[in-house]
Amino acid sequence: MERTHNNGVLRLADVNKQVKLIGWVAKRRNLGSLVFIDLRDRTGIVQVVFDESLTDAVKDVRNEYILNIVGIVRERKDKNSKLATGEIEVQATSVDIINRAETTPIIVADETDALEDTRLKYRYLDLRRPIMQQKLFERAHITRVIRHFLEEHEFIEVETPILTISTPEGARDFLVPSRVHPGDFYALPQSPQLFKQLLMISGFEKYYQMARCFRDEDLRADRQTDFTQVDIETSFMSESDIQNLMEAMMVNVMKEVKGIEIPRPFLKLPYDTAMNDFGSDKPDIRFKMHLHDLTEIFVDSEFAVFKSSQTGKQAIKAIVVSDKASASRKEIDSYTQLAKKYGAKGLVTLKYLEQKLDGSAVKFFTDKECQAVIEQLGLKDNDLVLIVAGDWEKTCESLGALRSYFGKELKLYDPNEFSFLWVVDFPLLEYDETDGRYYAKHHPFTRPKDEDLKLLDTDPSAVKACAYDMVLNGFELGGGSLRIYDSELQAKMFKILGLTKEEINARFGWFIDAFQYGTPPHGGVAFGLDRIAMLLTHSDSLRDVIAFPKNASATCPLTNAPGPVDLKQLDELSILIKK
Ligand code: ASP
Repeated sequence: MERTHNNGVLRLADVNKQVKLIGWVAKRRNLGSLVFIDLRDRTGIVQVVFDESLTDAVKDVRNEYILNIVGIVRERKDKNSKLATGEIEVQATSVDIINRAETTPIIVADETDALEDTRLKYRYLDLRRPIMQQKLFERAHITRVIRHFLEEHEFIEVETPILTISTPEGARDFLVPSRVHPGDFYALPQSPQLFKQLLMISGFEKYYQMARCFRDEDLRADRQTDFTQVDIETSFMSESDIQNLMEAMMVNVMKEVKGIEIPRPFLKLPYDTAMNDFGSDKPDIRFKMHLHDLTEIFVDSEFAVFKSSQTGKQAIKAIVVSDKASASRKEIDSYTQLAKKYGAKGLVTLKYLEQKLDGSAVKFFTDKECQAVIEQLGLKDNDLVLIVAGDWEKTCESLGALRSYFGKELKLYDPNEFSFLWVVDFPLLEYDETDGRYYAKHHPFTRPKDEDLKLLDTDPSAVKACAYDMVLNGFELGGGSLRIYDSELQAKMFKILGLTKEEINARFGWFIDAFQYGTPPHGGVAFGLDRIAMLLTHSDSLRDVIAFPKNASATCPLTNAPGPVDLKQLDELSILIKK
């Protein structure tokens, strides 16, 4: 078995060279006394021609057989501009069949109509498709550029444990039973958060890791049970130092991997503005359709929907969809369903036709209110106005969901544009009405803004955090924060989160202890590598950029994981399965 060239690299300049090639048969055509075979390897496809002297040798050859050929590169008469090697072909002078292949259950080609579970079951064939190889090559390129960048900036890669203890990122843990300690469990890390902070206490100053993380969450197109973070932590850097460095890193990735220059600095949007204007803490800023605030206009409204009986921050907000006043009943119903899914109690729809507001709610509006709406929204004929009223966050988020929907549906943005930004000044805490307690918005180690420290006792909801997310085209690429570095403040934070002294000691005592021995001010960030790869390769799903992902029901159709285990294994672990 020998090769002199990869198949996809041959060009006109190679004409008359003798080459030895190896590859899979992508396609075979018989043309009278000639046989044409497209030979594929990781670099691409080249057409190989077998004349009468060799047709016998390849008469049984079918798709996905592996051949080793010797031949001469010739200029093609009928060139194929769709193929990188389309100006040449290889005239075979000898051929070896290296291996045979059964008919494959999915076609090995870019275009596929195979069901996703079939693709995942035969993932090794799915990954043989050039388009999938391309995605994994690009993903590896992204990783390489990031690694290179961080190494150049004197970061050290340190591995942290996979079998560890529960960390509070807010998702459900995957647990691994301990054989040696019956009844005790390791947790798989939701992130290396606590360990990377300890590495700062150890004095490493600049840490990174391509870290596998595990969260037992319901899967969606942009979520997997096991995923990879570019995990980063630094000491003695300010929020903007960290953001600048991370911007430089992503700009470098865009340049090296996509050949695109991204302007800096990135826009920084405070969380409140992002929510108020875009209805999202990860806004897609490639298109406008801003949310408008109508609360002032309707302060005295008699309209029941606009009169709030609730406590907490309330708002009345709207988006305007141009030229959509002709929306059908069915369309409006689907908009309403979407808004409700995001917590809206309902959706008020108005149409602006012939300089007048139209819609069942209009009879509850005064002329002054109508006029103010028309003016504030700058309405044009045939505009559709969608209004949500109620809890501020739900109002913003439900209109934000509609905004995203219309952005895609009405093609309001260029899919090839990459719009990066930071969302900053997140709230430190969020209050959960059902549980009657606060949760950390980022995680419990996030530092409150110095100027808000005094509010921790009096008005915890108003405290802002030194936390930031990098956002790209409506997706959170990564998030991080400055961390608390004194044990008293950390203990206070745990207390606000409803943990008793005993619970704190039992769960995080080991972590808080470490703070007593000279903890540097530190902070960091973690990027979702899979998500970056998904967006940069224009993939619809994380599954397209992970070699062996789980499907939407968190199983692996290839290995059938998760699967049952022997009774003996369970016995060793002192585990009895409840039927
Ligand atoms: N550990 C955090 C996360 O996974 C990121 C960070 O704060 O660095 O979300």
